[in-house]
Amino acid sequence: MSSSLNNLIAAWSFYFGAVIASFLNVVIWRVPRGESVVRPPSHCPKCDAPIKWYQNLPIVSYLWLRGKCAKCHAPISPRYLLVEILGGVLFWGAWLKFGLDAPILWVWFSLMIVGSFIDFDHHLLPDFVTIGGMAYGLVLSVAIPLIAGVSPWAGLGWSLVGAASGLGIMWLIRFLGGRAFKREAMGMGDVLLMGAVGSMTGWPGVLFALVVSSFLGSLGGLAAMAVSRKWGRNFEIPYGPYICLANLIYIFFPETMDWYLRLFR
Ligand SMILES: [Zn+2]
Repeated sequence: MSSSLNNLIAAWSFYFGAVIASFLNVVIWRVPRGESVVRPPSHCPKCDAPIKWYQNLPIVSYLWLRGKCAKCHAPISPRYLLVEILGGVLFWGAWLKFGLDAPILWVWFSLMIVGSFIDFDHHLLPDFVTIGGMAYGLVLSVAIPLIAGVSPWAGLGWSLVGAASGLGIMWLIRFLGGRAFKREAMGMGDVLLMGAVGSMTGWPGVLFALVVSSFLGSLGGLAAMAVSRKWGRNFEIPYGPYICLANLIYIFFPETMDWYLRLFR
């Protein structure tokens, strides 16, 4: 592919990711509240003024309006901008690394973005992210070999083993943790999410996510305690975002895993 075409698609991938993430912002806000994601159209939560299409361009509009509603000037959370940039960067990165396979990952990234931010806000992971992600990985594991003209059984086996290892390990941790601490150590959503990680990236992805997410989660937990000045073991942190972050690191930098394993050789 010529380099100018490649650059054009890379730029488009970033923009497309930001557009999708702009919709994911709506999903993140509305779905846990039981609202429709299509109706009513976007409006200012403060003054209800409808947001016109040119005020709803990803990233650009937020910067243009300086993060305020065009009508009542109520501040709009910078998180909207952050999620749009995140979507853009992830879609763009997937194109750079995986080329024509990138759209496969765009779907999984979108599910992880939605799951992570809903988990941050509400401490829950919706089934369409966790069970949906697992189903998506299984369907891909059959569909991709079929398209490539090879037997789908190996792909399906790999995805099933991945999902089972994710579910099994996390369920065990949840079970043992619940016994040791006499309270819920981990939500069922985290167990299902790890199943989705396994179905998408196999058992090595699960192993990586397990180690890296517990490390990142501890750092995140300490940071959250420091910011809120609430210390103690009853402090609850959402675990889903760290599982997703770890899986993203694994997808983009699988060599991190080699580096980690070399420490033990
Ligand atoms: Zn307003």
